[in-house]
Amino acid sequence: MVYLCEDKIISCDLQSLEGASGDLNQQFDHEIVYGPPAHASFHRMTIAPPAVLGIETSCDETAAAVLRGDRRILSSVVLSQVALHEVHGGVVPEIAARAHLDHCDEVVRRAVAESGVGWTGIGAVAATVGPGLIGGLVVGAMTGKAIALALGVPFLAINHLEGHALSPRLDPGVAFPYLLLLASGGHCQFLVVEDRGRYSRLGGTIDDAAGEAFDKTAKLLGLGYPGGPALERAAASGDPARFALPRPMAGRPGCDFSFSGLKTAMRHAVEALDGEPGARDVADLAASFQRAAADVVADRARNALRMAEERGVAPTALVVAGGVAANAEIRARLAAVGAGHGLELRAPPLRLCTDNAAMIAWAGVERLARGERDPLDAPARPRWPLDPRAA
Ligand code: ADP
Ligand code: MG
Repeated sequence: MVYLCEDKIISCDLQSLEGASGDLNQQFDHEIVYGPPAHASFHRMTIAPPAVLGIETSCDETAAAVLRGDRRILSSVVLSQVALHEVHGGVVPEIAARAHLDHCDEVVRRAVAESGVGWTGIGAVAATVGPGLIGGLVVGAMTGKAIALALGVPFLAINHLEGHALSPRLDPGVAFPYLLLLASGGHCQFLVVEDRGRYSRLGGTIDDAAGEAFDKTAKLLGLGYPGGPALERAAASGDPARFALPRPMAGRPGCDFSFSGLKTAMRHAVEALDGEPGARDVADLAASFQRAAADVVADRARNALRMAEERGVAPTALVVAGGVAANAEIRARLAAVGAGHGLELRAPPLRLCTDNAAMIAWAGVERLARGERDPLDAPARPRWPLDPRAA
């Protein structure tokens, strides 16, 4: 049921949004409230678009967020497990699962409280069910399903990668199709994002993910964990030309990546130093690594854009998402590549680059607007490629 007053939807239920087609932003140009309208008080009714609760537990962040269909993030709580994993130099799955179990309820409760809409204002629940570490996925998925069941609202089983892939659309200016570089700790691939649910993988890493290469190199340099931000800070005062490092895959056809050779070259560069690296050496090594990584990313992005165009795709933008999108040098290089093709580089704001639940809620909003929902027995999927043809 949709109730209209002049040209505004003043009340509707979720079923009315199902099957809605076209751009969600246009759908929500109307202001929407839930519940039956009280005729006498139309003008006094609070106008509020429906809110989606997002839950993210696929790796090392326990996160929950509440997002309105008009893209407004009402709350976003991210509890990082970095302190638990850093002594081990990487994410330990069993520790991650237990931490999600300990904190998921509280993180969700906080997100709902901070959103101001309360439980009754939640119109749907979207939880990451894959890909990722199975223990955490089960915790988040079960929490989301239980809440959806208790509230009697739709449940959406979200692909974490789709959360990253659609997150740039939290900015209403990003329209389909676009070329996406998804570069995080566990993933590194170019995808043409044709529409919600339609992804073509053009290429990706054949060994380490970009974020993983940053993390391992940072560890080698004693910069701590997670390595990306620490390495970028160290590189700021370094000389990127001091160490001659390889640019793996650069100049080759296609847009695949390889980072293992670069990692090995870094180890050799450290071993070739006279004794332990000092602060100057570390800064120069970090800067040299970052420059090499950025060169590779720029070279691969040029090819990926060409490949997309050869397939008849006219991307509206070059988009980068995932934790590595936070890196300023990589962003700047990608911006230059995009400009060479007349495309703007679009990236989510920094806080939405690394894992968060606002992007999961947004993927839920996009799917809901297309009339999609998932059954409560939707399984957790540790492996779940966005483009099954390229898996
Ligand atoms: P995952 O889903 O794999 O956990 P995230 O999207 O949370 O990935 O991103 C974390 C990854 O991003 C880590 O590998 C981290 O080192 C990397 N990262 C974060 N910030 C930066 C940065 N400024 N420069 C390079 N890499 C970064
Ligand atoms: Mg993470």
